[in-house]
Amino acid sequence: MLELRNVVKRFGGVPVVDGVDLMIPDGAFVALLGPSGCGKTTLLRLIAGFLSPDAGEISVGGKRLSAPGAVVPPERRRMSMIFQSYALWPHMTVEQNVAYGLRLRRLPRDEIARRVATICAAVQLDTLMQRYPGELSGGQQQRVALARSLVVEPQTLLLDEPLSNLDANLREEMRFEIRRLHDEFRYTTVYVTHDQGEAMATADLIVVLRGGRIEQTGTPEDIYGRPRSEFVARFVGGANVLPGRFAGLDAPFSIRLEDVALLSAAPAAGIAPIEGTVVRRVFLGSARDYVVEAGGEVVRITTPPQIDVQPGERVWLGFPPERCHRLEPTASGGE
Ligand code: ATP
Repeated sequence: MLELRNVVKRFGGVPVVDGVDLMIPDGAFVALLGPSGCGKTTLLRLIAGFLSPDAGEISVGGKRLSAPGAVVPPERRRMSMIFQSYALWPHMTVEQNVAYGLRLRRLPRDEIARRVATICAAVQLDTLMQRYPGELSGGQQQRVALARSLVVEPQTLLLDEPLSNLDANLREEMRFEIRRLHDEFRYTTVYVTHDQGEAMATADLIVVLRGGRIEQTGTPEDIYGRPRSEFVARFVGGANVLPGRFAGLDAPFSIRLEDVALLSAAPAAGIAPIEGTVVRRVFLGSARDYVVEAGGEVVRITTPPQIDVQPGERVWLGFPPERCHRLEPTASGGE
């Protein structure tokens, strides 16, 4: 169990991580998700031991690793960190890059060779062992960074936006790769990203951060389907945030774009629909994206492509009660 208790980090007096409490079960895959500047990287560096907290403590398996003024250094934690830039040694081959951490630990030569071969096979680098980083694609370099981090058999793998330098296709492939390796070796993973799709595709647990504080923690289904605040509803996947009266509620609520019913005629029975006018329609191939003005609000809706209504047409919007999530009031600003 990786445990953070009331962790605070300030830069120039300004709290960047502001009282974070978090329990990460052994072997879990956790994503720290939030907009730029919310403190994700700082939190990861605190976990790694690169930064000392101003208050609170971080422990693993009940053993305290960080407290103000008392930090076990990164090399003495069983943690590996992968940076956005990969940070490979340009003058070393793939094999030498991957073996580096084991050489530092002065392991016997044949043990090093065995472990390097096993991990390089697991990340499909076995045919590229004698290449230099400059002779590899971005995705291959990412695999070297993964192999180099995993070969030392960490208890915890920390990843800071590891896919941001890759193109869209490769990013998607590497997401699955990172999850597959996690499932194969069962270390604890903490993955920093601002991309909700990446967090949802990889993690068991998503921690949404805002202004240095945890806004919500939950499974991808929880965070997406039952956002507790307007901030989470909007940040994770985009959602409509609408006044309660739209759904017969007394508080604002959120509803996903695909959960709003778009009707081209007022239904005879059922939930009282809200009348509106289509202001924009975009064809996305597998779906259509609509913007509808209704009751003084702008509502976004995603429909199957068969539902085809022209801009300017009158429509009726239905808000199924089981899809409407009451929101807790959110203080403005703070990101
Ligand atoms: P991004 O997605 O843009 O990397 P982030 O959520 O990872 O953002 P952090 O890198 O943790 O955010 O930074 C949080 C805040 O702390 C930012 O406002 C940043 O400018 C500030 N900050 C980070 N490191 C330092 C530092 N060493 N000295 C002063 N301020 C810092």
